[in-house]
Amino acid sequence: MNETGQPYQYQRRELVEPDWTRLPGWRHVTREQWESAQWQRANCVKNLKQLRAVLGDLIDERFYADLAEDQQQHATMSMLVPPQMLNTMVPHEAPTTEALYADPVRRYMIPVASDRRPDWPSHPYATRDSLHEHDMWVAEGLTHRYPTKVLAELLPTCPQYCGHCTRMDLVGNSTPTVDKLKLTLKPVDRYEGMIAYLKTHPGVRDVVVSGGDVANVPWKNLESFLMRLLDIETIRDIRLATKALMGLPQHWLQPDVVEGMERVARTAARRGVNLAIHTHVNHANSLTPLVAKAAQTALEVGVRDVRNQGVLMRGVNATSADLLDLCFALQGEAGILPYYFYMCDMIPNAEHWRVAVWQAQQLQHDIMGYLPGYATPRIVCDVPFVGKRWVHMLTEYDREHGISYWTKNYRTSIEADDAEALSRRYPYYDPIDTLPESGQKWWRKQEATVAV
Ligand code: SF4
Repeated sequence: MNETGQPYQYQRRELVEPDWTRLPGWRHVTREQWESAQWQRANCVKNLKQLRAVLGDLIDERFYADLAEDQQQHATMSMLVPPQMLNTMVPHEAPTTEALYADPVRRYMIPVASDRRPDWPSHPYATRDSLHEHDMWVAEGLTHRYPTKVLAELLPTCPQYCGHCTRMDLVGNSTPTVDKLKLTLKPVDRYEGMIAYLKTHPGVRDVVVSGGDVANVPWKNLESFLMRLLDIETIRDIRLATKALMGLPQHWLQPDVVEGMERVARTAARRGVNLAIHTHVNHANSLTPLVAKAAQTALEVGVRDVRNQGVLMRGVNATSADLLDLCFALQGEAGILPYYFYMCDMIPNAEHWRVAVWQAQQLQHDIMGYLPGYATPRIVCDVPFVGKRWVHMLTEYDREHGISYWTKNYRTSIEADDAEALSRRYPYYDPIDTLPESGQKWWRKQEATVAV
């Protein structure tokens, strides 16, 4: 409890760009370099050697050894951290090893072996494509899961790779433990296949244009794809998915990108289409004046809304104070609407990040009533074969074994002939370490019989 007598005390905090010259490798980097998208991309940290070059001897060898072990044995994503993001780790002092270990942004962008759970690194039912997006492709990269909406994965890369990426099956370079699925068509043919599907399926009105991250599509190609979407009368909503608005705001501030966005936004407005940007920020420390500038610029050129879809993760943001600090910074300082927090999906080696459904329900309860209602995010569980569900929408919950059951009210594209699809109950699983001892014991017995 604090001096207001409330469980959470709101305090306005101005955004600050952490001083990058506190890091030995960037001591001489100028503001002009820092604000250049090209410089940011060229100086992304992709391996231990480059991380060492930035952090110098501020960090002990044991951290680098821990990281090397993780990359060899556990990581589902390769390393790719833009300077902008690295600079928000231990943001306001020269980092020490302990502070870097404890940092919330580091915990998901630069995971180390000692972060993972030795007892249950993966849930027995964790899978590579946990949402079965690939199974629901109706054209290469085009997932038709909900009746009126599609997800268009234009490409499999991003300017930054997050350790917990739900599309770890497809996105990024292969790692020692994960051989990635490869897109086979040339981009131009892939886009053609998507447009052809949308033209012949007028019931689809909403397209999430994603990847990967659309910031990695050369602007000319992205603009041309968006203009073609806008030519399809039946498309009424377009949402651009880009974590880079936060991870590499310099990209979205480049004059050719801003001018191009303005052309697309003007066309969308003329045609009555809702054009929005969806970004992915998980912690208040990631919001800096440059991120706010990128969001404001998009709004100024006519994008209708910039919204945040964060991921709820232990060690990163799974407390009500962390979530509210982030939401107030998004809403009050950056012009970004706090929209969703997804529970971290059931991918391999993610158990240390995942929270149980009851914990997510408690967090949803605890964040109500502080933010404006329209800016109070929903915490959602993306249930395999079901889709997003608010965390309170389960129909039954076996807390001992950590199994919640969910129902749905539509068929996905692979269930046209499934008579049971709308009456079946679909399971979702809590992390086993959050269960009572009797539940953990039950899973230990099951483990031998569950196909992973
Ligand atoms: S930006 Fe999104 S798609 Fe790219 S690695 Fe992160 S979570 Fe995955």
